[in-house]
Amino acid sequence: MRSFKVCQCGAPLTLIEAATPQPAGAQVLLRVKAAGVCHSDIHIWDGYYELGGGKRLQLLERGIKLPLTMGHEIVGEAVAAGPDAKGVKLGATFLANPWIGCGECTVCKRGDENLCKTPRNLGVFTDGGYSDYVLVPHPRHLFDIGKLTPTQAAPLACSGVTTYSALKKVGPVLKDEPVVIIGAGGLGLMAIALHKAMGGKSVIIVDIDPVKREAAKKAGAMLAVDGKAPDAAKQVQAATNGGAWAVIDFVGASDTARLGVDCLTTKGGKLIIVGLFGGDITMPTPFFPMRAMTIQGSYVGSLTDMKELMELVARTGAPPVPLTERPLEDANAALNELKAGKVVGRIVLTPA
Ligand SMILES: [Zn+2]
Ligand SMILES: [Zn+2]
Repeated sequence: MRSFKVCQCGAPLTLIEAATPQPAGAQVLLRVKAAGVCHSDIHIWDGYYELGGGKRLQLLERGIKLPLTMGHEIVGEAVAAGPDAKGVKLGATFLANPWIGCGECTVCKRGDENLCKTPRNLGVFTDGGYSDYVLVPHPRHLFDIGKLTPTQAAPLACSGVTTYSALKKVGPVLKDEPVVIIGAGGLGLMAIALHKAMGGKSVIIVDIDPVKREAAKKAGAMLAVDGKAPDAAKQVQAATNGGAWAVIDFVGASDTARLGVDCLTTKGGKLIIVGLFGGDITMPTPFFPMRAMTIQGSYVGSLTDMKELMELVARTGAPPVPLTERPLEDANAALNELKAGKVVGRIVLTPA
């Protein structure tokens, strides 16, 4: 097994060769066909999140251990299964749900493994897909990719389920009111596509980059607002008949969260924060009751969200986001390009 591992935060990934693991218990061994390179890999690689005010959250304090094989958007062929892994069709190609909990606690039993306090997320807390093989702890995390190619399916494991879960939190107004999406990067474009597939009314995109705004309009956004414009919130209020009902912040910076709150001049609006750029906001507390406002965080998605997303995509087709295939050996180059902001859509690593 050849794996590209983080051995030291910030240092280039190291190619490490080891014996291919044998699945035990309910584990399933996948031969990796595609592994998406996600922006959150940059945070793991760097080893911290910005918290604003010069503070940082160190990931090693969150229980991440090195050396680690990153890569949480994995599609692979099931090549071996442990004695307790029932009903796995060897030779079939599956998407692996990477958001895996302990499987035992009440949170996991409710189906919210992504919220478990002892996570075993693939490519984050356990070895992931920047490798030619990966172990998945249980067959319940394997999803048939249907007619999709491995490269088309891989981004659904993080980018897809994260945006789907955030859009679900908008609730019934999704079909009646415009949704404001801040950030037209990979997640923003995925959100526009899934919003349409879910029967959403319309999308207003906010981004500071004119190229990304144009891409969002091409993808179907009804309006694109420059996030740096002094009247950005006013433009959104005007386009939403006095205030937005739902804002999804895929950036998560101080400025974007503040803008999100400023767009919610309706009563009963919701800001859903997904992005981990980092920063902080202060809020007048009377806004919460007076505007009946909700601020909610959304972290990846549950097993149910993943199942619903795969059913949605089987019905409506792969979300049309730009995908670039690269050999696994390019893992370092791919991360560097992503960090430099040079990537449009998703890079997907494909082991030979
Ligand atoms: Zn991710
Ligand atoms: Zn649990």
